[in-house]
Amino acid sequence: MTSIRQRLESVGTRIRAAERRFGRPPGSVSLLAVSKTHPPGLIAEAAGAGQLRFGENYLQEALEKIDALATLDLEWHFIGPLQSNKTRRVAEVFHWVHSVDRLKIARRLSEQRPPNLPPLDICLQVNISDEPSKSGLDLDALPGVAMAVADLPRLRLRGLMTVPAPADGLDAQRRPLARLREARDALVARGLALDTLSMGMSGDLEAAVAEGATIVRIGTAIFGPREARDAAMS
Ligand SMILES: *Cc1c(COP(=O)(O)O)cnc(C)c1O
Repeated sequence: MTSIRQRLESVGTRIRAAERRFGRPPGSVSLLAVSKTHPPGLIAEAAGAGQLRFGENYLQEALEKIDALATLDLEWHFIGPLQSNKTRRVAEVFHWVHSVDRLKIARRLSEQRPPNLPPLDICLQVNISDEPSKSGLDLDALPGVAMAVADLPRLRLRGLMTVPAPADGLDAQRRPLARLREARDALVARGLALDTLSMGMSGDLEAAVAEGATIVRIGTAIFGPREARDAAMS
């Protein structure tokens, strides 16, 4: 059986190869290991192989793992759907939130971020493929929300995140991701200092690097397949 260490190495190799192929500076794409549904032991194994940034989707599950792994000094990113009644714990224990898609949620996170911690790093999630059932802001609503979120005192707006509709082949995968990059560039032109594009999963990592991803969120290629649960929730 392939170990987590070996899978992390092969994902790292894929990232470095894509950086070279698409003319990105070496090391400009960082790896977020998406550990949802996987037990703390596998996360500890990944940490032992040098992976320190992890993404989680479900708050209760994440809190248990963060607690179990508290001695390891890991960096936790919340990447799942976020309801108002969950924001307090997220603001208290996470370093990043990638899935902010409403001003109301951003305001709560800012109010609830503990004063002894640095501002919470966040991305706005965009529904780039315009799917009716998907979370994320529409491109039309993005500029207004982004300008308002950028003013919140206890958040640092770092960039944009998306989960595009599945597509086959590099060109088809690149198209929606290019729209996210253009949306980011338009916000930068309006004066926002955004340095992050969170896009690219196990199946479209290369397309994401080609279109300027700075954080790729990889689960399956590191930890293997998940149980059915999150197919219904994603
Ligand atoms: C599960 C998930 C991922 C990881 O997807 P894989 O295909 O397993 O690499 C990335 N981003 C989000 C938002 C997810 O929910």
